[in-house]
Amino acid sequence: MANPAYDLIVIGSGPGGYVCAIRAAQLGMKVAVVEKDKTFGGTCLNVGCIPSKALLHASERYEETGQLFDKMGIKVGKPKLDLAAMMKFKDEGVDGNVKGVAFLLKKNKIDTFQGTGRIAAPGKVEVTSAGGKNETLEAKAIVIATGSDVARLPGIDIDETRIVSSTGALVLDKVPERLLVVGAGVIGLELGSVWRRLGSQVIVVEFLDRILPGIDNEVCRQFQRILERQGIKFKLSSKVTAVDANGKTLKASVEPAAGGAAETIEADVVLVSIGRVPFTEGLGLEGVGVRTDNKGRVMVDERFATNVPGVYAIGDVIAGPMLAHKAEDEGVAVAEIIAGQAGHVNYDVIPNVVYTFPEIASVGKSEDELKAAGVAFNVGKFPFTANGRAKINHQTDGFVKILADAKTDRVLGVHIVGADAGNMIAEAAVAMEFGAASEDIARTCHAHPTLTEAVKEAALAVAKRSINM
Ligand SMILES: Cc1cc2nc3c(=O)[nH]c(=O)nc-3n(C[C@H](O)[C@H](O)[C@H](O)COP(=O)(O)OP(=O)(O)OC[C@H]3O[C@@H](n4cnc5c(N)ncnc54)[C@H](O)[C@@H]3O)c2cc1C
Repeated sequence: MANPAYDLIVIGSGPGGYVCAIRAAQLGMKVAVVEKDKTFGGTCLNVGCIPSKALLHASERYEETGQLFDKMGIKVGKPKLDLAAMMKFKDEGVDGNVKGVAFLLKKNKIDTFQGTGRIAAPGKVEVTSAGGKNETLEAKAIVIATGSDVARLPGIDIDETRIVSSTGALVLDKVPERLLVVGAGVIGLELGSVWRRLGSQVIVVEFLDRILPGIDNEVCRQFQRILERQGIKFKLSSKVTAVDANGKTLKASVEPAAGGAAETIEADVVLVSIGRVPFTEGLGLEGVGVRTDNKGRVMVDERFATNVPGVYAIGDVIAGPMLAHKAEDEGVAVAEIIAGQAGHVNYDVIPNVVYTFPEIASVGKSEDELKAAGVAFNVGKFPFTANGRAKINHQTDGFVKILADAKTDRVLGVHIVGADAGNMIAEAAVAMEFGAASEDIARTCHAHPTLTEAVKEAALAVAKRSINM
């Protein structure tokens, strides 16, 4: 390639792709972004993090108005749901966010191309617009940031009206009387919570014997009890094998995971939320020989390079947690690596948040992981029932747990279930990034009265010297 027009072409404009493009432009590269959808921002902004958090926020306020306001002496009567207006509130939030990305791309002088990108050869991306128009772009480097798609269950057809994925569950036009959620992962529990708050009877069927696989067991056990108290029913160690959509109500066949007699659960809507799979359709990976693993993920080395020179990949399409902030950090790192710098992602410190009420947030290792690795550790725990701010807010569910190395006191993991846990985990992530000991957190002055004092108290509890317990 004599003199390609671009230094970098990014395929996909999700949190991985658009952040990568901006960082590359900041570093002086001439950048193009190719996006097949009408709007920028990928899964996260259009059908993922952002719309789901809008509905979680709105439905939480709705429930709070009905349950807490009266207690606080605010007499507003029984709240009435205007679902169409709530959906509009969500859509306006999404619109503002996707327009924000378009603005940022323009501000950073990044050229954008609407169409499906296919890697025709190293350094060459063919863009086919929805109208069938083709053009070929050339660049020194290509970053694949094509993200992920909904995982499907064999034999269960998602129609996005009655049998829905997360995408359909974000746009239902009426509150289902009975919602059956397949899969007790983050997305199922978040969207299950939304519709329960708005009036659905929710039952969650999960193949494993626990909810939220991968998250600290003690946190999950307490969290399940809280969700059950809120009215969500769980059927663990069970699998949905078929959904009969012929009648007015859906009939799901549910069997024990280990096999056995099936039972029928009726529902008005079934949400299939069993995870997500990497999306590489139409990218032409086979043609150029980019290797994928047995789960269809693009294989990369520690510099995000594929086996084909000049072709890199980041975000949901490669291995690792499918999280927007993981994709963003990889986007920054790969842009820096392409620019000759030392881009790096610390996979030991990637926070994970479930935005239900209460929230769950964790960073670092769980107790099970440390035990399996044979690491000796101390545990410091502090419940929100003993935190002044939680008590005055009448939001005392949950606790903070800090796991610290038994020899060095270095913080190895922090797990929080409680109101605003998602914001509180940032403190733990910063501390861990700086290699903090639990004593460092314990000796840091925390504002009073805040929920974050529970983090300090949990750190004190590692050395068995918490004050308010
Ligand atoms: C309901 C839901 C809620 C979520 N909530 C959260 C959350 O709260 N926090 C969190 O961290 N994560 C959340 N996630 C996950 C998060 O959305 C993803 O981890 C994140 O979007 C991954 O970013 P990405 O850039 O890798 O890919 P994506 O965001 O999937 O973007 C990929 C983009 O590439 C485009 N594309 C694909 N192929 C081509 C092609 N050949 N040519 C051109 N364009 C192409 C797609 O159209 C898409 O716009 C949620 C996901 C869902 C579904």
